[in-house]
Amino acid sequence: MRLANVGGRATIMISDDHGVDVHRASGERFGPELSGIYENWDQFLNWADDASLGEVAAVSRDQLGAPSPSPRQIVAIGLNFQNHAVESGFEAPTQLPPVFTKFLSSLTGPYTTVSLPPGGNTDWEVEVVAVISRVASGVSPEHAWDHVAGLTVGQDISERVTQLRPPAPQFSLGKSFAGFAPTGPWLVTPDEVVDRDDLELGCSINGGVVQTGRTRDLIFSIPRLVSELSQTMTLYPGDLIFTGTPEGVGLGRNPQQFLQDGDVLVSWVAGIGNLEQRFEASPR
Ligand code: ZN
Repeated sequence: MRLANVGGRATIMISDDHGVDVHRASGERFGPELSGIYENWDQFLNWADDASLGEVAAVSRDQLGAPSPSPRQIVAIGLNFQNHAVESGFEAPTQLPPVFTKFLSSLTGPYTTVSLPPGGNTDWEVEVVAVISRVASGVSPEHAWDHVAGLTVGQDISERVTQLRPPAPQFSLGKSFAGFAPTGPWLVTPDEVVDRDDLELGCSINGGVVQTGRTRDLIFSIPRLVSELSQTMTLYPGDLIFTGTPEGVGLGRNPQQFLQDGDVLVSWVAGIGNLEQRFEASPR
């Protein structure tokens, strides 16, 4: 199933541009917003399995918002691909890689314009994002997928000057400027992709591919991340986990490359969909 946020309303997509409004089709049992659906995920899935879905309506991409628009927590993982750790000047982690947050105010839907912070070096990081369903606390890796509603595409846009400013790195701040956490275009349930443990992802700038990778190469897989995180913190329905980016970010290039006024960044995960961000210089 593909579940989209269409103008704030939960919508089951039946194609790339048509969907069924969950609130209406369920006789107002679920929705209209997305957040309540993650709280009642098992009941929702049961209903969606059996429901003879209702009236189909056209959906335009301008209507799409974040698949989980109001998570309690956004967790992001650094250095979770070997070659990205190397290009960043680190050894591949053997224990849980760096964990930070992207503050909620940076979260958006899939198709946006993003202002470049003045004096900054704004970089790209395509990632698979997991959305939590059942509350996860002390979960084993074997049961971790049972706590994931689905997957979506994310960009962990990062302003490197702020992120790396002394005296100690400011990962969360450097990655939380307005619009720095686009997600979408919809949530895809794990049963809907060919292999939930091996998704191809990548991104391009103005049509030139800059990153590609596969989630089978994650140092800490999605279920292992859910399990490890849940030993410390409780994960709640609708929470997001940005799972880490493969090699090819601008910081690791020689010479380094960062996003410029007018650049268009397209990010994708095969079997899920695309994001598109246009960057513009901040108004003075
Ligand atoms: Zn990242």
